[in-house]
Amino acid sequence: MNFEVLTLFPRSLEAIFSESIIGRAAAKGAISVKCTDIRDYTKDKHRRVDDTPYGGGYGMVMMCQPVVDCIRAVKSRLSGSTRVIYMSPQGSLFDQKKAEELTRYDNLILLCGHYEGIDERIIELEVDEEISVGNYVLTGGELPAAIVVDSVSRLIDGVLPSPECYTDESLQNGLLEHPQYTRPRVFEGLEVPEVLVNGDHAKQRLWKEEQSRLRTGKKRPDLLGE
Ligand code: SAM
Repeated sequence: MNFEVLTLFPRSLEAIFSESIIGRAAAKGAISVKCTDIRDYTKDKHRRVDDTPYGGGYGMVMMCQPVVDCIRAVKSRLSGSTRVIYMSPQGSLFDQKKAEELTRYDNLILLCGHYEGIDERIIELEVDEEISVGNYVLTGGELPAAIVVDSVSRLIDGVLPSPECYTDESLQNGLLEHPQYTRPRVFEGLEVPEVLVNGDHAKQRLWKEEQSRLRTGKKRPDLLGE
């Protein structure tokens, strides 16, 4: 899977994509994550990428020319199936199901807006889908793009040590994961549940399933349709 993030602030994403699980997965070639600076595509002699909105209003709007040229240039060097996604508070809400759906593509181009957003014609011409990471407004699409890269990557072969790492995870099967514990067995008087340390794997599986249902009902009853 190739992730192509188009942004005015590529440096803001470097640390996120070069560290930890995502960084290691990219280093061994399980995924590829590239950030392209949209400003490199402007034909404006002052390297401008935005302008004031027609009809008045606050802020600046990212212009068609640099963004459309950037998307087309990146697309032209990709092969296989490509989905162009604009990170936008106006998009459909991102969730685990959508993350799974996006693993079907060979390439995801994630367009990050800034300021007041992007000229509407860019969406008409080049965008396949708009995705929002939540019902709130951020200053830019970089953090949302990082969320998509991270959550989709985890589902790609070779990124996590084994598929069980994500199949047992919260939301993957419509439930929240059971509580997790590690050493020490007692911390400030709180003990790890006996069933987890007694070595009976069948009982442990049943306990985990039951806890998973219980905490979903308690923390996220909406997932159970309640
Ligand atoms: N004026 C726009 C509106 O009202 O729809 C909001 C622009 S926002 C300040 C700037 C950029 O941040 C957007 O172009 C988008 O790329 C990104 N952004 C902000 N909130 C987001 C969210 N919830 N999900 C995804 N992207 C978001």
